[in-house]
Amino acid sequence: MSMNAETQTTQTNTGRSETILSVRNLQTAFFTDKEVIRAVDGISYDIETGETVGIVGESGSGKSVTARSIMGLVDSPGRILPGSSIRFHHLETVREFAQRFSGNAVDVNALEQTHDPAELFDRPEVDMTPAAFGYESPEEASIVDFLGSGYGESLGLIDADDFVFVTEGSPDDPSRIESGFVEITRLEGKAQRAMRGNKIAMVFQDPLTSLNPVYTVGNQIKEALRLHQGMTGGEATNEAVELLEAVGIPDARRRVREYPHQFSGGMRQRAVIAMALACEPEVLICDEPTTALDVTIQAQILELLEDLQEERDLAIMFITHDMGVIADVSDRVNVMYAGEIVETADVETLFASPKHPYTQGLLESIPGRQVGERLQTIEGNVPTPNEPATYCRFAPRCPEAFDACNEIHPVSIPVREGADDHTAACLLYPEGKSELERIDHHTDQAAEPSSTEGGANEDQ
Ligand code: SF4
Repeated sequence: MSMNAETQTTQTNTGRSETILSVRNLQTAFFTDKEVIRAVDGISYDIETGETVGIVGESGSGKSVTARSIMGLVDSPGRILPGSSIRFHHLETVREFAQRFSGNAVDVNALEQTHDPAELFDRPEVDMTPAAFGYESPEEASIVDFLGSGYGESLGLIDADDFVFVTEGSPDDPSRIESGFVEITRLEGKAQRAMRGNKIAMVFQDPLTSLNPVYTVGNQIKEALRLHQGMTGGEATNEAVELLEAVGIPDARRRVREYPHQFSGGMRQRAVIAMALACEPEVLICDEPTTALDVTIQAQILELLEDLQEERDLAIMFITHDMGVIADVSDRVNVMYAGEIVETADVETLFASPKHPYTQGLLESIPGRQVGERLQTIEGNVPTPNEPATYCRFAPRCPEAFDACNEIHPVSIPVREGADDHTAACLLYPEGKSELERIDHHTDQAAEPSSTEGGANEDQ
């Protein structure tokens, strides 16, 4: 997968981007007195309109911190580090934000006329290599890589409060903008609130943490409608009833007046999904939304999400530790381990031909997969990454580990030549090469780890 989303993102005539969200080199760290915990350590992936991207891994792999980074919900002492970028490409949103926050919009074309991206790598302010952006040479870089990832400001290209980047069209004429993105890692205050909930919504694992026990379910949905859509009174009540009906709650006009404790676990999760949908988001992040539910209700909620996705063309990011659920819901899957994505593939390929030893271990741990055989487990625990990776973090648990695994950090690469949609971060790949060639391949592509000193987005 090329990491330069700007070149691969296309805009349809319905105003939607095919790629609606691009995560690039996301690094989120927690700064404690004793250490820096790199909870998410340089991950990149895209989500397209109407698709479900599954994120799977054990507890501590960085799945939820990824979601919270996208939502702007990383609490102190955590923060997103420089070099990270989360781009929201939805065209109507880019136009809307360029109109509403006109002082914070940047004309990327104008900057391209005056700056050579290849030369920017030589500037002392930039501590990233072209490889960190997914390039083999500096000439492949685009100016948007620097703007989106937090270097634009230190390079003097943009102002501290800029966050709308227009790549086709002009910020001076928002209705005619043809492409661009809103850089989520740079959002604050009003702009942050305009994105969170409105454009990207999240459903958490435990519905009781999202619902306030002292307000009726209807009032909580109406509050979301008031805040994000300015709807009040009878209009909001009718909309709340419609939303409850849409998520399959029977007798919705009566139940809208009930309190969360009067709902069953499954119904509560449906109500939370209704709240998330109240603002008609483009992207829905589901963080283990079915973990607290029994299997039958889980299946119903998954079916509901699938139906809603089809109706609303929602892009869904689905986080779970459960490979069975991942198989049910995902179009594409990212397997995370210790803050990194270690394998990416479409769901059929991943299950038919897992390449990374960690993915293989996860699949062997699914109950019932090998009938009559003893259930396999992955011995040991996920480590807490507290320093830039200089070796394979899975090595202590990996049955395939060899000497080089403790000395070289594997980068994410196609598992074989031409398999751009199936990548793994493992020294066993690419297939068909000698051990020496594979090691060279990873060493050549390795990006220098970025600094954890200081950092953009301190407020996040
Ligand atoms: S790089 Fe080595 S230790 Fe890491 S997953 Fe591959 S074989 Fe195992």
